[in-house]
Amino acid sequence: MKYALVTGGSRGIGRAVSCKLAEMGYFILINYQNNDAEAEKTLQLVQEKGSNGELMKFDVTDPAAITLALGNWASQHPDEYIEVLINNAGIRKDNLMLWMTGEEWSKVLDISLNGFFNVTQPLLKNMLVKRYGRIVNIVSLSGIQGMPGQANYSAAKGGVIAATKALAQEVAKKKVTVNAVAPGFIRTDMTEGIDENEWKKHIPAGRFGTPEEVADLVGFLASPASSYITGEVISINGGLYT
Ligand code: NDP
Repeated sequence: MKYALVTGGSRGIGRAVSCKLAEMGYFILINYQNNDAEAEKTLQLVQEKGSNGELMKFDVTDPAAITLALGNWASQHPDEYIEVLINNAGIRKDNLMLWMTGEEWSKVLDISLNGFFNVTQPLLKNMLVKRYGRIVNIVSLSGIQGMPGQANYSAAKGGVIAATKALAQEVAKKKVTVNAVAPGFIRTDMTEGIDENEWKKHIPAGRFGTPEEVADLVGFLASPASSYITGEVISINGGLYT
């Protein structure tokens, strides 16, 4: 059995990625923070794709909870390892810098940037020992060009982009690849309050993307076929600002 962990797998892009990896034959460890019902729904969809999975509830900002969850899994699967990791959990708390609270700043950084470290670090060793691994980090257009009202989110995603490039070089010889996927506007709960009619005028493709379109790209980067691509940031944004 081959195992993949998707953080933030209960909804949106994480759910679509879980389904894609299930189609590719992976057993999916579906991480999430709160939303049990939505996580169960992802599990059901994974099973409908002909694979299986299990829920792995922890907050990516809580190293002790991660150690516990991954330790439990490892002790139940002593001869297996998690060969694919999708760091997808993220939130946004938009505000102009002038009005931004310390809590808005640090929460967004904590989930996207520290969450990336907290989950990736304990899984790296086995990928290196087994000489195979795929790490895909979901970042954002915001982290490439910066977005007004998103200094926190842009900083978090920009930090993950830089860490992606650094880590990719550290582990390349051991056949572990590390890449980032940078979506533009994707129709999920996160973009619920954003007016697609207003924004689509600025998107050359004339629409928001779907989680499934992002999942197809992530699936490729998570597959053996992407073996010579590492340290890359691949945009998926319908031509927006590129
Ligand atoms: P959603 O809001 O739809 O889903 C967010 C997911 O992250 C949920 O599964 C949620 O779990 C989980 N999550 C949030 N906080 C934590 C935490 N502390 N620990 C564990 N899981 C957590 O988001 P999207 O699917 O839209 O976004 C997914 C990723 O893609 C994010 O990193 C986002 O920044 C990025 N992105 C999204 C874009 C978009 O347009 N939608 C554009 C660019 C990037 P729960 O259900 O339990 O709350």
